[in-house]
Amino acid sequence: MNVLVAGGAGYIGSHMCKRLAEAGHRVVVLDNLSTGHRAAVQWGELVQASLGDTAVVKDALKRYQIDAVMHFAASSLVGESMKDPYRYYENNVIATLHLLQAMKDVGIDRFVFSSTAAVFGEPERDLIDEAHSCTPINPYGNSKLAVELILDDAARAYGLKATALRYFNAAGACSSGVIGESHSPETHLIPKILRRAAGESIEVRVFGNDYKTRDGTCIRDYVHVCDLADAHLHALDYISAQPGFHRFNLGNGAGYTVLEVLNAAEAIIGRPLAIPYGPRRAGDPAILVASSEKARRVLGWKPQRADIRQIVGDAWAWHQAPAY
Ligand code: UDP
Repeated sequence: MNVLVAGGAGYIGSHMCKRLAEAGHRVVVLDNLSTGHRAAVQWGELVQASLGDTAVVKDALKRYQIDAVMHFAASSLVGESMKDPYRYYENNVIATLHLLQAMKDVGIDRFVFSSTAAVFGEPERDLIDEAHSCTPINPYGNSKLAVELILDDAARAYGLKATALRYFNAAGACSSGVIGESHSPETHLIPKILRRAAGESIEVRVFGNDYKTRDGTCIRDYVHVCDLADAHLHALDYISAQPGFHRFNLGNGAGYTVLEVLNAAEAIIGRPLAIPYGPRRAGDPAILVASSEKARRVLGWKPQRADIRQIVGDAWAWHQAPAY
């Protein structure tokens, strides 16, 4: 298949491009490089444009005879979305609408969308399945949920074949070390710990140790970025055979506490990291873990790299000598 990867110069998008190429697909990256990296585009041509550059996007869809679009291009910082919601609706909703319209205009009907656990809001139970209510608590989650609603309507009205994959905590890197996570600013736990361990002056604290969890720190479902890429391949096959709009949660179904992540990092790096406790971060629920039973059953997806030591170890291979 010829697959356009929007946001293919970013963290998850670049891992997707690698996986698609390995599976024999032809990849074309659409990215404006606002947060992505030119050096991460290694498996296919780069069309440097924004999703809203309709003429360029339509031209690329036609010129490369694209069969399906995978969409990773989004703003994804919760705190930033609280301060500047218009930007999130613009970048995540309106831009996606332009992309979908361009696809419709040129007759492309397969779409795999990066969604997020943030669509659920405050968890009502420890294991979050697809039946959990969707009441986001920040503009980022709202913007992703808005696109899910658009996709549902588009599937009904235009016959779009679409899927939304809700990631829990994407982490790790491709084990070859040629691509990895590189955000500025970095807010996520694992890259912050590892960048500090690699010598950067990044302040890291454990955000709260008085949660009702086994060691008092928050539990999250960390899922390896290469397992996420595998899930997208399965999803692409699935929508090709099953029209309509489908939602899947992607995680390992088991969470790790912040301290367990820290212990794994210390074991891999081989020295204590002396990360102090700090206050809770606003908006952090105690436990966020996915039930990905549906993805396993319906898509036939099985995460291969669920162990936190592998996730942190692969990330560490990247952070010791990041190429960008
Ligand atoms: N966290 C932390 N210190 C940090 C960054 C994150 O203790 O410097 C915690 C955070 O409170 C959460 C977990 O690590 O419980 C994962 O946070 P991250 O920002 O990586 O992802 P999120 O779960 O917010 O999507």
